[in-house]
Amino acid sequence: MHYFIKTFGCQSNSSDSERIAGDFQARGYTEAKTWQQTDELVVNTCAVRERAEQRARGFLNNVVKYFAGHELKRPKVILTGCMTHHGQDRLFKMLPMVDEVLPINEVGFNQAAVRKDPRHAWIPISVGCNSFCTFCIVPYSRGREKSRPMADILAEVKNLAGTGYTEITLLGMNVNSWGLEKVGIGFRKLLMNPDRQFTRGDLPPNQSQYLKLQGLPPFVKLLRLISRIDGIQTIRFMTSNPWDFHDELIAEIAANPKIDRYIHLPVQSGSDRILKLMNRGYTRAVYLRLIRKLRVQVKDVVIGTDLIVGFPSETLADFAATVDLAKQAQWQVAFVAQYSPRPGTAAWRLYPDDVSPQEKKRRWRILDDLINKSNLYRRPKIVS
Ligand code: SF4
Repeated sequence: MHYFIKTFGCQSNSSDSERIAGDFQARGYTEAKTWQQTDELVVNTCAVRERAEQRARGFLNNVVKYFAGHELKRPKVILTGCMTHHGQDRLFKMLPMVDEVLPINEVGFNQAAVRKDPRHAWIPISVGCNSFCTFCIVPYSRGREKSRPMADILAEVKNLAGTGYTEITLLGMNVNSWGLEKVGIGFRKLLMNPDRQFTRGDLPPNQSQYLKLQGLPPFVKLLRLISRIDGIQTIRFMTSNPWDFHDELIAEIAANPKIDRYIHLPVQSGSDRILKLMNRGYTRAVYLRLIRKLRVQVKDVVIGTDLIVGFPSETLADFAATVDLAKQAQWQVAFVAQYSPRPGTAAWRLYPDDVSPQEKKRRWRILDDLINKSNLYRRPKIVS
């Protein structure tokens, strides 16, 4: 029997697909060369934007068309990934060619992965997210944040190092809050950081960024232990969120040459009003302070970000604030997305999608040209 996995979306999906492949092989399946020649076809979907869902639908329609014109038997189609947030019943109605829905975390962390790259490995260290940014479907599709036990992560990395792997990327939706979700549940009463401007009533439950940590953040401990493993030369991690980027983490990056110098730090908007509507939990000033610290302490750091243009009610003044932040932050790269409402999210429920597609595209182009097309910010600078 053969399987084939078609993967859409982010590195977490690629990593999940490696473990789904491991699960198939453990059951005696062999990978098919193409989706046209398989018995079982897994479509690992992304739902982060409307366009990502359209790509998966387009692919599934092509599969149906291909087999309608052939004598070959259509493979069993298994859908997984972030589109599973629609729920099985709705998916079967929306996509009648789907035979089975595989819940996103069904194949767990500890299933051995089938990797194609012999040097670099993706290592999932947490799943889910507790942050509930209002535009984002992840907390609904991947569920609450859950950290993988340290011993399991270290065992996997040691094993990889023993077989010649030299580079690893630690993956999580909020990778730098690894090990903190229990703190979030148990220590709600801990003092909030005094320079936050939000009141307690504004807090979504369980965000570790509002809590004072005692001792070293668990993610820093994990980085230290991994960097002691012989053979591992480069450690990357993604995606970091600004609210869990503790000072101790900056110090560790500065001191630890095994940690890669590219840091991806999504900001999403430069307007405090929009950040608040997005439930991002920081202001532009807090974000700028953070990257200044990074640039001062980690001299060769390279910083990238994610931005959304056309979020509901984003005015020209809000957008100008984002352009201004881009000039101040001097990111070397930015993934700029045009907002699209994701059914089920708070933004979809609460805010009308009132920026026209043409205007979103215009704003997208301005930021893309400024950050990605120009060479203005290619060299890291210290912002003072
Ligand atoms: S931190 Fe926000 S944007 Fe990132 S996965 Fe969680 S909810 Fe989505």
